[in-house]
Amino acid sequence: MTVPMITLNDGTKIPQLGLGVWKMPDDEAPGIIMSALNNGYRHIDTAAAYGNEVGVGKGIAQSDVARDEIFVTSKLWNDRQGFDETLRAFDESMGKLGFETLDMYLIHWPMPAKDKYVETWKAFIRLRDEGRVRAIGVSNFLPDHLERLVDETGVTPCVNQVELHPRFQQAAQRKVHDKLGIATECWSPLGQGEVLGEPALIEIASRYGKSAAQVILRWEIQLGLITIPKSANHDRMRENISVFDFELSDAEMAQIASLDSKDGRIGPDPATAD
Ligand code: NAD
Repeated sequence: MTVPMITLNDGTKIPQLGLGVWKMPDDEAPGIIMSALNNGYRHIDTAAAYGNEVGVGKGIAQSDVARDEIFVTSKLWNDRQGFDETLRAFDESMGKLGFETLDMYLIHWPMPAKDKYVETWKAFIRLRDEGRVRAIGVSNFLPDHLERLVDETGVTPCVNQVELHPRFQQAAQRKVHDKLGIATECWSPLGQGEVLGEPALIEIASRYGKSAAQVILRWEIQLGLITIPKSANHDRMRENISVFDFELSDAEMAQIASLDSKDGRIGPDPATAD
């Protein structure tokens, strides 16, 4: 299964669909990563906070796929924000992953009450300029946080990774990203599994001989989003990457758009999370 590439605002190419590894135990990660690579995944989304960078790095080192064919994202955790602390945290992540270069590094949360994300971003720019990371971006940044980064540093994040699934579609946030040239990446793209029983999705899925999970991922792909479903189960991993052989109609896209809900957020609100 070949996954299309999205070109980011700095020219870096990222596979549009990857594997999320939140809650994947470090000791199980090598086997799961190798299985994902065997099933065609070329994009892995980890974070310092997930505690599995060692396992992710091992899985990649032990696989038959060359390191430069795999796009790996990691994220700076909240308690490491600040210019010098960011540089140290990055070195620690790289030591755990065992990499020379990282494909993408994200600020995990803006933490506006701490007001350190601009100086943190300046350290990210340094890491990129030194060639230690190819692409830099953010996660959970609200429009005013994004605009401040651009105004104060002149460097626009490549990506903003935000909660996004059929019950929480982030239309206004996506519009801001489009205006600024930032790619939108969906976290919890399957709504952590809670959206899968939705009758409209099951009905659409039955038309194509697909699952509700595949319909959701296809909807995200057709919206031009980057998506990183998590599964540690080999069959589901295969299922989640098998979404490039069917196409939803405009009416089905609209039907899924109507599932958006004001109360659909699962995770914390970035305005207050710290
Ligand atoms: P998800 O929406 O990807 O759902 C994962 C869960 O859905 C699995 O644990 C499994 O129970 C179920 N599932 C997966 N595939 C399925 C299938 N084909 N059929 C039936 N059930 C299936 O949830 P997630 O793990 O929260 O999000 C994905 C990734 O996003 C994470 O692993 C992580 O990499 C990233 N993430 C980032 C942030 C952030 O703050 N940046 C926050 C949460 C998650």
